[in-house]
Amino acid sequence: MLRLEGLKASYGSIMAVKGIDIHIPEGKIVALLGSNGAGKTSTLKAISGVLPVDQGRIEFKGESLLNLKPEKIAQKGIVQSPEGRQIFVSLTVAENLRVGAFNERRKDIIQKRLKFVYDIFPRLLERQNQVAGTLSGGEQQMLAIGRALMANPEVLLLDEPSLGLAPLIVKDIFSIIERLNQQGVTILIVEQNALQTLKIADYAYVLETGRVIMQGKGSDLLQDERVIEAYLGGN
Ligand code: ATP
Repeated sequence: MLRLEGLKASYGSIMAVKGIDIHIPEGKIVALLGSNGAGKTSTLKAISGVLPVDQGRIEFKGESLLNLKPEKIAQKGIVQSPEGRQIFVSLTVAENLRVGAFNERRKDIIQKRLKFVYDIFPRLLERQNQVAGTLSGGEQQMLAIGRALMANPEVLLLDEPSLGLAPLIVKDIFSIIERLNQQGVTILIVEQNALQTLKIADYAYVLETGRVIMQGKGSDLLQDERVIEAYLGGN
């Protein structure tokens, strides 16, 4: 469904992505793992059109996404829930969610999407009138994902959804990601938490300094000694 071929992208003279091939099949969960600075976030940015591509291809359903503006890419159904959350702190939960439905005018459809998000995150329903800046870290992460869902994505790009969250909340977030996937959303997830991610990922790529150094089924990588050594704390 979404395919990157020979993708290269840089910030000025710093090349962050050095020629990677990645395939995200429809209905699957694909993960990008790797240490800090490996190029994971930059790959997501290239897909969402925020970071210009130097070379290579990005195709969605056989159509090139290169040179499309970020809004156009989002309109096509590829929506990112950003790292660091970037919610609007002075808006309420409900207002933040409505902003996410930027691509829809019809009130009944927006209402349906809101119901979908509140059904997945009952915590957000309870706090719909609370100012987002006063939510806990986990709640803010739920709101960031919820806001992305308001655009009704076909492919959801998740950048470190578990960052800074307590273990129990991390578990919740991962089971919600699985549930979303079961409801038909294709997912590309960037994570530092390799263990939890590999448990839910159909397929994963390990990046290092802008290149794919390993790839395989989530369940296979969980057993791989090199992955255990480098990313799962050696146990
Ligand atoms: P992390 O897990 O630490 O977020 P990452 O794998 O997501 O790491 P990227 O954020 O994609 O890594 O960074 C890849 C490389 O690009 C790094 O060397 C980083 O310093 C560089 N880089 C990222 N953003 C910028 C920027 N805005 N300007 C210049 N260089 C950048």
